[in-house]
Amino acid sequence: MAAEESWDVIIVGAGNAALCAALSAAEQGVKVLVLEKATLEDRGGNSTFTAGGFRFCHDGVEDLRTDILDDMTPGEYDSIGNLPPLSEEQFMEILMRITEHQADEDLGRILIGQSRDTMRWMRKHKIRFIPMFGRQSFKIEGKHHFYGGVNIEAVGGGWGLVDMLVQACERMGITIRYETGLRELIQDESGQVTGVRAFGPDGYENIPAKAVVLACGGFESNPEMRVRYLGQGWELCRVRGTQHNTGDGINAALRIGARPHGGWSSAHAVQWDISAPPYGDRVILDNFQKHSYPIGIVVNLNGERFIDEGADYRNHTYAKYGKEVMKQPQRAAVQIFDAKTHDNVRDEYRIREVTKASADTIEELAEKLDINVEGLKKTVAEFNAACQPGEYNPSILDGVGTRGLAVPKSNWALPIDTGPFHGYVVTCGITFTFGGLKINTEGQVLDLTDKPIPGLYAAGELVGGLFFQNYPGGTGLLNGSVFGRLSGRNAGLLARSA
Ligand SMILES: Cc1cc2nc3c(=O)[nH]c(=O)nc-3n(C[C@H](O)[C@H](O)[C@H](O)COP(=O)(O)OP(=O)(O)OC[C@H]3O[C@@H](n4cnc5c(N)ncnc54)[C@H](O)[C@@H]3O)c2cc1C
Repeated sequence: MAAEESWDVIIVGAGNAALCAALSAAEQGVKVLVLEKATLEDRGGNSTFTAGGFRFCHDGVEDLRTDILDDMTPGEYDSIGNLPPLSEEQFMEILMRITEHQADEDLGRILIGQSRDTMRWMRKHKIRFIPMFGRQSFKIEGKHHFYGGVNIEAVGGGWGLVDMLVQACERMGITIRYETGLRELIQDESGQVTGVRAFGPDGYENIPAKAVVLACGGFESNPEMRVRYLGQGWELCRVRGTQHNTGDGINAALRIGARPHGGWSSAHAVQWDISAPPYGDRVILDNFQKHSYPIGIVVNLNGERFIDEGADYRNHTYAKYGKEVMKQPQRAAVQIFDAKTHDNVRDEYRIREVTKASADTIEELAEKLDINVEGLKKTVAEFNAACQPGEYNPSILDGVGTRGLAVPKSNWALPIDTGPFHGYVVTCGITFTFGGLKINTEGQVLDLTDKPIPGLYAAGELVGGLFFQNYPGGTGLLNGSVFGRLSGRNAGLLARSA
């Protein structure tokens, strides 16, 4: 391609946010170029590594059948016992509570208010969805009972989502250039963004455009930035997804005076198999996560519990518990299940690449996993004695909790008393960072005086302001789709009018 070739809109990145932005910009009838730093084989960013799970507002399965799950089979439909609706009020309450009331309410209102329409829009672009039968439901009397608000996934998970989005982009005539990464944003004397300086197989290149949408992820894959913003020791966590989200878009925008915003010292981080590689594995995907801890207990290598495993649904706690594991000796923890609940652990516990041991007694399990034996025996004895009677039900907040412990377990607290016992060793796996750029409700990136930087838009992980300390599961993809669509449309409109 000739260096002087001009585009109306450049989208930086080729994950979910970027591809939604590209589709939305192209709908405005403009010429769109997507730049992706990774190779074609490595494309799709973190979005590829996901389960493809989306949280969005709906009125239950009958409603979903009209326009989102319109190709669900009769057998799938009949197997659903309950798929609870999610109202805008419920979603907003969850977002605000989980982020300790720090989430930017204007962005939150857009995210939630446009969630259903955005899913419908994706469906029109031939993205297919199904209920998350495997991971987000428990079977009761043969029927799936869904819980926790993230109940719908893209067919084929994250891989499927990215493939379907790329196909949609191809149908819209959008060009995607791989192995070409943003290095700098180019501005004219007035401050208008007029293109990007990128680095590709042939070296540096200036690519002009009338508008640019940054959608190239956070800084989770940059150990230097992790230590700088998240704190000491964070260079040692595992990265759950792509190695390419190194903060390039955030840094390029900050260099031209964009305003940093949001939860810069916190990140989405989970319990992740201790033997997992430094970055995500495109075959194992998210199966290194270990997310059945609400039906077990979690101890450190001293044998001490340190989190309320049953504080809330997994979808509302998992993203903050990786950080708690980081604080433990050797950044390690062990999830323990007894025979009563072990059959109900999620599929990710059954992969071959798992760091686990099983034993008939707690002492033996502790010895096998290098946990302090006396410490674990004491913890389990105290925990068992603190468990209160009640009707255990993992698909609702059953209130079956402990009493009198310094670290309580608020729901699903059954004594760990029936062998064999199973222990899974985890460390911290970072998913994505919460700090990023400030945007307004039009998706425009704001400068240090809160004025829009002309021609510059952003979407997805690199936008700050929505998530702090914690995160409601299934909101990362929705965030990229809603704000990708918004920013892409406005970038397209600007380019069309220029
Ligand atoms: C294992 C795992 C499971 C997850 N599961 C879920 C889930 O089920 N549901 C959910 O909602 N969220 C989930 N998430 C979170 C979700 O992945 C992210 O919130 C979302 O995918 C972010 O989308 P994005 O488009 O902003 O970033 P990404 O999908 O990461 O895309 C960013 C893209 O930018 C590219 N890039 C980086 N730098 C440059 C540059 N300089 N120039 C050009 N391109 C560049 C990257 O290569 C990448 O392709 C999960 C994340 C992980 C890691």
